[in-house]
Amino acid sequence: METLARLWHVRPGGIAERRTESLDMSRLSAETRIENDAIVSAMERLRADHSDYEVDTGREGQWEFRTHYGSLNTALGERSVSIRVHAEDETNLSYMKMIVAGHMSEYLGSTDGIRWRGDGNDAGVPVFFREITVVSSTRISPHLRRVRFAAGNLERFAGNDFHVRLLLPPKGRQPRWPSVGADGLLVWPSGADALTVRVYTIRAIDVEGGVFDVDFVLHPGGNTPAATFAETARPGTVISMIGPGGAGVPDAANLLLLGDDTALPAIGRILDHIAPSTRADVFIEVDSPADAIPLAESDNIRVTWLYRQGREAGTAGLLSEALRKMDPAALPPDVYVWAGCEFSDFRELRKIVRKEWGLKKDRQLIVAYWRRGVQGEDEASEE
Ligand SMILES: Cc1cc2nc3c(=O)[nH]c(=O)nc-3n(C[C@H](O)[C@H](O)[C@H](O)COP(=O)(O)OP(=O)(O)OC[C@H]3O[C@@H](n4cnc5c(N)ncnc54)[C@H](O)[C@@H]3O)c2cc1C
Repeated sequence: METLARLWHVRPGGIAERRTESLDMSRLSAETRIENDAIVSAMERLRADHSDYEVDTGREGQWEFRTHYGSLNTALGERSVSIRVHAEDETNLSYMKMIVAGHMSEYLGSTDGIRWRGDGNDAGVPVFFREITVVSSTRISPHLRRVRFAAGNLERFAGNDFHVRLLLPPKGRQPRWPSVGADGLLVWPSGADALTVRVYTIRAIDVEGGVFDVDFVLHPGGNTPAATFAETARPGTVISMIGPGGAGVPDAANLLLLGDDTALPAIGRILDHIAPSTRADVFIEVDSPADAIPLAESDNIRVTWLYRQGREAGTAGLLSEALRKMDPAALPPDVYVWAGCEFSDFRELRKIVRKEWGLKKDRQLIVAYWRRGVQGEDEASEE
């Protein structure tokens, strides 16, 4: 996973995707200048690690990188670099500052000297942070609970990026939330105040009503903070979220969507938002027919439910089996494959789509949503 798109607290394996079309970067921008003896080698590493994102400027020492969230331009001197980030709104500008600071911290060992001038004076509460309050919690299938949350200022969360990181405070303590430092990085509460962070999908959102729904899979496991939260959440319970992130509804006329229970909310959201003319062939793996919840219907949407029938999630291999039954030559030439599932399923799907079918990178988005035996999302997304 490309590290320039790492996000939020610059953990490995972010969920951001590369944006290939050009953006109108003129709206917001900020600049920092970093002086360091090792800056030349740090910039070489940045370029080597992110060549996919680099746009040729034709000028020596001046590079441009474009990401899903915005762009950054660099002007390199002998032992200093000026970096300007551009983005369409304050949230994305904040992400771009975080991306720069995260990489400099990795390459130079610190963010000393990084101070941002320009737009988005956001040290303190992050612009992409919201405290959220449980309104209701409803069991919608044997393995899925829908929790409705209330929050202010949700407009930014109703767009095409629809994943968030939920921040769960330790039980019995007054929550302490993250803040943004002057370098642009998030500062996390630690020790007894440490938060549990899990990635989820906003299934539906009502900006005017100030509410949104998250569908939680109720899965087995000894210590499952997010699933347990969903089981026990009562109206009035307060947690928080940061986001949104991730690339949402694929822009394609022919979609092949695959997912297990954890990607069912994302698939539901995609089907709610695709154009009526978009054709979607959908494969969803759940435990049994009782887990097959209603989804948007149209002549262009075909949903196939695959049942594990008691086998452990992530072991049945039903999604790859469905792909192997297809003749890639019979697929529409412009098909876009989107998938979210357990890590070993993710590897298998990616192998089929990328290696066996030879589908180009820009026609696919295949992501590990969780990994058997591993907590949280970090290791789930690594290859
Ligand atoms: C982009 C993205 C979007 C996501 N959207 C959603 C969503 O909308 N709804 C949703 O429910 N999940 C979603 N997930 C997956 C969710 O983040 C993980 O399942 C997460 O690990 C659950 O956290 P937890 O605290 O309950 O369990 P953890 O503490 O993370 O894990 C505890 C144990 O449970 C196992 N485990 C985790 N998830 C499952 C599962 N689904 N089935 C069986 N065993 C499991 C782990 O392997 C581990 O052994 C998404 C993930 C990503 C990356």
